[in-house]
Amino acid sequence: MTHEQLTALDRQYVLQTYGRNDVDIDHGRGATLYDLAGKEYIDFSSGIGVNSVGTAHPAWVKAVTDQASKLGHISNLFYSQPYVALAEKLCTRTGMAAAFFANSGAESNEGLIKLARKYSFDKYGEGRGTVITLNKSFHGRTVTTLAATGQDVFHQYFFPFTEGFRHADPNLDGVQEVSGHDVCAVLLELVQGEGGVLPMDVTFVQKLAELCKARDWLLLVDEVQTGVGRTGTLFAFQQYGIMPDALSFAKGIAGGLPMGGFLVNEKCRNVLGPGTHATTFGGNPVCAAAGCAVLDILDQGVLDQVKEKGAYLRQSIEDMNLPCLGKTRGLGLMIGIEVKGEHTNKELCAMLVRSGLLALTAGPGLRLLPPLTITKEEMDKGLSIMKETLGGLT
Ligand SMILES: *Cc1c(COP(=O)(O)O)cnc(C)c1O
Repeated sequence: MTHEQLTALDRQYVLQTYGRNDVDIDHGRGATLYDLAGKEYIDFSSGIGVNSVGTAHPAWVKAVTDQASKLGHISNLFYSQPYVALAEKLCTRTGMAAAFFANSGAESNEGLIKLARKYSFDKYGEGRGTVITLNKSFHGRTVTTLAATGQDVFHQYFFPFTEGFRHADPNLDGVQEVSGHDVCAVLLELVQGEGGVLPMDVTFVQKLAELCKARDWLLLVDEVQTGVGRTGTLFAFQQYGIMPDALSFAKGIAGGLPMGGFLVNEKCRNVLGPGTHATTFGGNPVCAAAGCAVLDILDQGVLDQVKEKGAYLRQSIEDMNLPCLGKTRGLGLMIGIEVKGEHTNKELCAMLVRSGLLALTAGPGLRLLPPLTITKEEMDKGLSIMKETLGGLT
């Protein structure tokens, strides 16, 4: 099949909800991908932070195919090994008490919201269902997580949205301003991803954790993008000197298969009892086996190198001194680049993709989320494409 045939079929048979790049991807290995015509691309996107251990990592492929040939699915009405193994790995590596598995980031955040509302209902009764979220946050595309998202562009068309969310500026005064007797939790990303790769201030986060404790609000951390090693620790909270009451994860957890979930602390272990929360595919054996493989691969020296690789990419980009790019920011291999000059972030991103470097946008800037396993050689190839493509632009 040619690229033209593929895109024609897409336009005819697929709902056109995505602004796609005019590029197809057929296969790859690590952070090196190829289209149908055999053209090479360096992957600085990981399928939006999903391919945490790159494409077709041999240990990941083996775990997935072994499990698929053994047991592809069994409902949550039965015990099975892979999700228990993954839950144990996640809890022992974080100090959290127990896991729930879901299928996407939005669904995982819905779980956190239900957890907070039920925690509060059990203890205080009705009238305490409000969750504070932050401006420029992103929490998902369901009707409830759109309402949770602190960006007005997402609050259109789909009325009525779920009630019970208030958005605050990301500082203590901002949170105090919207607080009240109806609040049960604060939900935040420690590095806002879609909002523009905006790391939260450590002092603010620690003060917020104290405020949550004082008011008996649950501290909920959305680690859908920052989790699974992306920022240089297994979860970003581990660099902030806080312990969340619960955190969500998704994107990178199963290295390319759809999986999400959340972890809760001891205090919240019994909040969602039998019959209160469920999802048919949650903890699917193949996804869970993939998740175990991802964590094992991260343990084998990959996680240790994330910060170093991130620093190398950021330094190299800043050293290029390109007129169309400004400062870089981020944590680990979650990198934002300011855009300045005549071209928008979307235009720059499209040029990079056409030239063979898969990049992303976030807020008004560019965003890089390479596989955590990316090699020095792949980083250098990507950097030189960036320099050649954007070098002449003002
Ligand atoms: C991507 C993302 C989501 C939504 O995840 P889906 O799997 O697309 O539902 C939620 N929160 C954050 C921080 C994200 O980056």
